[in-house]
Amino acid sequence: MPPSTPPQTTAIIVGSGLAGLSAASQLVAHNVPVRLLERAAKPGGNSIKASSGINGAPTKYQPPSLHDDAFYSDTVHSAGKAMLSSTTHREKLISTLTNSSKDAVEWLVEKKGIDLSVVAILGGHTYPRTHRGAGQTPPGFAIVNTLLTSLKQSSIFHLQTSCTVTKVLQSEHRVTGVEYACEDGKKEEVHGPVIFAAGGFGGDAEGLLAKYRPDLKGYPSTNDPRPGTQPLLTAVGAQLIDMELVQVHPTGFVDPANPSSPLKFLAAEVLRGEGGLLLLNGKRFFDELETRENVTKVITATPPTSTSPKQWTVQLVLDEGVYKAAKSHIDFYIFKGLMKKTTISELGTEALASIQQYADAAAGKEKDPFGRSSFANWTLTSPTPDSTVYVGTVTPVVHFTMGGVLINEKAEVIRQDDGPIEGLWGAGEVTGGVHGGNRLGGSSLLECVVYGRIAGDQVAQYVDSHKK
Ligand SMILES: Cc1cc2nc3c(=O)[nH]c(=O)nc-3n(C[C@H](O)[C@H](O)[C@H](O)COP(=O)(O)OP(=O)(O)OC[C@H]3O[C@@H](n4cnc5c(N)ncnc54)[C@H](O)[C@@H]3O)c2cc1C
Repeated sequence: MPPSTPPQTTAIIVGSGLAGLSAASQLVAHNVPVRLLERAAKPGGNSIKASSGINGAPTKYQPPSLHDDAFYSDTVHSAGKAMLSSTTHREKLISTLTNSSKDAVEWLVEKKGIDLSVVAILGGHTYPRTHRGAGQTPPGFAIVNTLLTSLKQSSIFHLQTSCTVTKVLQSEHRVTGVEYACEDGKKEEVHGPVIFAAGGFGGDAEGLLAKYRPDLKGYPSTNDPRPGTQPLLTAVGAQLIDMELVQVHPTGFVDPANPSSPLKFLAAEVLRGEGGLLLLNGKRFFDELETRENVTKVITATPPTSTSPKQWTVQLVLDEGVYKAAKSHIDFYIFKGLMKKTTISELGTEALASIQQYADAAAGKEKDPFGRSSFANWTLTSPTPDSTVYVGTVTPVVHFTMGGVLINEKAEVIRQDDGPIEGLWGAGEVTGGVHGGNRLGGSSLLECVVYGRIAGDQVAQYVDSHKK
């Protein structure tokens, strides 16, 4: 009889968004079997909705003359006052994120064959570094779909959807697996090292959001309603950080067909990045490429136009040049009825003067009064009431939760007494500390890839070290 091989340890991943799929891809590459448990019927989480792209610097898609060494400092600047606490820890998390960003984009492009050849500048970035594909497919869908398709070809990857993890199992301070229930409601257990990649709590309006940010009550959201999972991790001693730091994105579309829906479609930040401007009461009011936090603050300092949901009426305006640069996004929004092609005359009497001022700044005739320095693909130089523009109404929306369970640069989940919890790793939006007070656009997909892959590598090492 051939000698029997001992059963191989299976790694457990909770959540099939980009963090979970990045971790799974790495584990499969290390030949470690993966059991991925996903609560929803369809895999992909919020990651599949991502529409602006993923950050990376320096990459071959940035102009060769550009020496983009400002990603770390932009991230620290955007994190703001949060950097004053746990400073060294945050600095390590951020430098791991930004230093690994080139590798992350290269891994997706070279190893996985994903097109990320178009680069745009988003709010709070010094240089263009947010990558997306040149075709019609939005970046979140392209990345998630490619990783999932490739994983499904592996016999050691096992995905179970409609299965909710209900408890993390622990024995003598070591995480040993999870309890979960699928559609029949029966509780089952699976044992092995665990990577939590269960996403944020932006959709948990009545639960964690109400607890940590009661002031955001009534705001619409880009996230489907679902409970946050951090309590499953604090139950085994995980430390939380920045739970009150919630990103309100300034531009969620108000659908004219259903203006009071609490769930909004995101107006991708890339629209502003490619040259779009914002009008409030017919006038520009801020540098559209400031951080999400700062743009939102200016809007929400004015009285809302509706209280249920709590929303404001802001117009997002693009010209033909911006349309051409972000055509696939805009055609899709027009198809969904969220934007329309119209003329400046429809925007009210004050809009023309504001747009003229913006066009002058874009043409280099005047300094922008709000300090904007990149106008990307805006081409309209002499706006008239009959000039064509593409317009959508937008409002601030709860979008992303910066807080979560604290991890270190090895993606180990940190206990309340600051040591790592053996057998438990975290990646993606379920974790906190990477973005401080404001996440830069494009850095969430990046954190999923960077920390998801680190978690996968670490678990593979852990499995290997426990074989001996
Ligand atoms: C509309 C929209 C557009 C965005 N655009 C961008 C962008 O262009 N660039 C960018 O960087 N970021 C963007 N973001 C943010 C980014 O997409 C998310 O923060 C990121 O994808 C989170 O990935 P994740 O893997 O951590 O979680 P998710 O992708 O949310 O996946 C988590 C998964 O875990 C599952 N889960 C949760 N709890 C359990 C449980 N108990 N048991 C089993 N499964 C569970 C969930 O069902 C979910 O499928 C966008 C977000 C939204 C909503």
